[in-house]
Amino acid sequence: MALTTKQIFTVLRTVKHPKENKDIISLGMVQELEVEGKKVNFTLVFPIDTDPNIETIRKACVQALEKELGDEIEIRGNINIKALQKEEDNSAMGKVKNIVAVASGKGGVGKSTVAVNLAVALANTGAKVALLDADIYGPSIPKMLDIENERPQVIKENGQEMIIPVEKYGIKTLSIGFFVNPDDALIWRGAMATSAIKQLLLQAKWGEIDYMVVDLPPGTGDIHLTIVQTVPLNGGIMVSTPQEVAIADVKKAMSMFHQKTINVPVLGVVENMAWFTPEELPDNKYYLFGKDGAKRFANENGLTLLGQIPIVQGVMESGEKGIPAAADADSILGKQFSELANNVVEAVKIRNDELPPTEPVQITRK
Ligand code: ADP
Repeated sequence: MALTTKQIFTVLRTVKHPKENKDIISLGMVQELEVEGKKVNFTLVFPIDTDPNIETIRKACVQALEKELGDEIEIRGNINIKALQKEEDNSAMGKVKNIVAVASGKGGVGKSTVAVNLAVALANTGAKVALLDADIYGPSIPKMLDIENERPQVIKENGQEMIIPVEKYGIKTLSIGFFVNPDDALIWRGAMATSAIKQLLLQAKWGEIDYMVVDLPPGTGDIHLTIVQTVPLNGGIMVSTPQEVAIADVKKAMSMFHQKTINVPVLGVVENMAWFTPEELPDNKYYLFGKDGAKRFANENGLTLLGQIPIVQGVMESGEKGIPAAADADSILGKQFSELANNVVEAVKIRNDELPPTEPVQITRK
């Protein structure tokens, strides 16, 4: 027999709020009730998203409805929760909405170039953008943004030291390179590196950020693990050149994101150095490293190809001069990077619509 809204209301009137001494209907907590055959949907409204009674009341509703109306009622998973107010999160990363990590199988494929230009292109869309250079083995972002000689200010707030990110091209940035001597970087391992990364994430005044782009070290390692344990990554972006050898390494790096305990979705692949275009012959394409290798890899693995970036002499020069190619949105590369940024925005949106927020990894040692 089909259920009626009246039956549902009657049962829900028996569910008491554990603290208020009133039932949830009288408190006006049940909204948008829909009954269709045996399927029941409704929304439970709470004053704040951190309300400690959310789970208890949700479970009490399911139990009461199944007890009174039978197990066939389709209610599990159909109760939506709505909070009228979000608790203010004043932690350093509290107002950072999305964090994407740019990764590669090996060094030299243009991971940092992609990270910097992606950040600049995202900022060009009007988004609030942060860029964290976590590439402990070769922090190149300060050079690429021509801020090598900057030293981020440190202020004291509520007894804690907070680092103020450097602002350039409309993005807020911090690099592990600011805190280490580049010549020391190679021996900078283990505990020191991981604690520095944690500090850059948790003790910096990032403020309101729509996208934080993290430039990871190549391959996999301690820094990757520290980051996934410290913050919830929305997704990873894999950068590769078209060569088979580079792609083989990408597979290895990608398997880290996909490990059961880490479980960070891969948003897609960027093929860098996809072809060479001489500046004087912008319509000519020379496939120096093979054609479409990363594109094929993306297709075969059900991944989105987020962008194909050609080799343009200007990229390297602009990297050296500290003016990212994406800063000129009308140049050939500016257009490629703005397309990449649009695809990343879309991929993040789809990811956020389809999957629950990533939980930072909890490491339990036996
Ligand atoms: P990774 O971070 O993977 O080690 P980088 O971004 O530092 O790689 O790039 C390595 C070198 O290749 C740099 O000198 C950079 O300027 C150059 N490079 C990267 N991408 C391109 C490109 N699309 N066209 C020309 N040069 C590039």
